[in-house]
Amino acid sequence: MRVIKVGGGCLNGKKTIESIVDLIACRGKGHVFVLSALHGITDFLITSLQTALVDETQIPLITGKLKTRHLLVARHLIQPKQNLKEYTRELEKSLGKLERLYYGLNFTRAITPRLTDVISSYGERLSAQLLTAILRSRGLSATCRMPHEIGLITDGKYGDATADLTKTSRHFKTHLSPLIGGDKILFLPGFFGTSEEGEITTFGRGGSDYSAAVAAVALDAERLDIWKDTEGFMSADPRLVPEARLIPVLSYEEAAELAYFGAKILHPRTVEPARRRKMNIAIKNTLAPDAEGSLITSRSARPKHVIKSVAYDTDIGILKVHASGVGARPGILGEVATCVADSGINIKSVVTSQTCISLLLAQKDMEKARQALMGIRPRPFRKLDRLTDVALIGIVGDGIQHRDGIAARCFTAVANCRVNVEMISFGPSRAALYFLVKKKDLESGVNAIHSTFFSTPRCRRQG
Ligand code: ASP
Ligand code: MG
Repeated sequence: MRVIKVGGGCLNGKKTIESIVDLIACRGKGHVFVLSALHGITDFLITSLQTALVDETQIPLITGKLKTRHLLVARHLIQPKQNLKEYTRELEKSLGKLERLYYGLNFTRAITPRLTDVISSYGERLSAQLLTAILRSRGLSATCRMPHEIGLITDGKYGDATADLTKTSRHFKTHLSPLIGGDKILFLPGFFGTSEEGEITTFGRGGSDYSAAVAAVALDAERLDIWKDTEGFMSADPRLVPEARLIPVLSYEEAAELAYFGAKILHPRTVEPARRRKMNIAIKNTLAPDAEGSLITSRSARPKHVIKSVAYDTDIGILKVHASGVGARPGILGEVATCVADSGINIKSVVTSQTCISLLLAQKDMEKARQALMGIRPRPFRKLDRLTDVALIGIVGDGIQHRDGIAARCFTAVANCRVNVEMISFGPSRAALYFLVKKKDLESGVNAIHSTFFSTPRCRRQG
């Protein structure tokens, strides 16, 4: 038995959903499917929190839109009429509950983390209901179970929960084993679980991948498949590097590093549970289901030059905290980092020198972090500087830290294109080397490094 995760990109519109349903019908029997919400629905649920807060007359319109979107697919794919009627009733019941949650929010005048999580979990609930109804109407034996009915237990942290694998495994084996095997198809909504107290908690945006890894481990699946509408992990972003190629095999470490970058192939935490059980993860392209895809496993072949991918992230800024003798002043790094973290900001990375602590942050967090630091009394630093026109290049490959000359080859490659390296960080990972360049130099930098390791050297200059 495999656990197969179907992403929101594959659940977009009636035609794409129809082809996914065909794929499930012919290849999915005996397997467990973890679903994302239909494309764009989670965003819509979240932006509607604000709409519902300020104007309660909008609430029926919000649920109305969700109804239209799901019924459009249902009308196309559910026959006979009787099944469609049953599905419509089920959909209305779920939307009725959702509507009450939005009214509750309007009444209490507060968008709490708790309500945000319950409301945003509805996208996955609705998609799981929809696909179950469609497959049933085709005469297949499909069932759906909600995470709160089957004991997918989390640590209770809203918006960023972690699953309790021991408890979840125990519950899943009791509740789900009878629903798996033979011709049966089981659907589970991804993205959320419940705390011991029964509170709905989500795994963070994009968290259905993580849900699927948890389900795969809890059910001792033979493999975790991630169905996407892309080929798999690439040696670079093909929009930037036309010669980029597929990476057929990666290690857990490499996949985890790459998951942090813009490609959004995988939720960064997906490999955690899989690695513990040495479970393979296969990324499969639903547009070419027989194509090789990428396999994430514990034994990854190491190419001669070690490098698997040259990735980048443009959602990055540097907040420079200038203070003399950073290296000799106990506690200053802790004070700065704690202050930023306490304002709910995630620090992507830190690089320090004797005179400066550089915090790497997401763009949206730059101003908030600056304000938080300005509020420390007494002020432990001399001045703050912001650098926003930068991009992060990450070179990923197991063993990169131990192989001589890789960093040198990268820097030579970028120097030959007259790209200046703004900052270097050899992360604590065995599998990655990061550095920052000016945003305008990103394309030439990535291409220069990629061609150094993957093809004939070539220099791309931007105008
Ligand atoms: N629907 C959720 C999101 O958009 C989770 C997921 O799709 O993985 O973040
Ligand atoms: Mg996703």
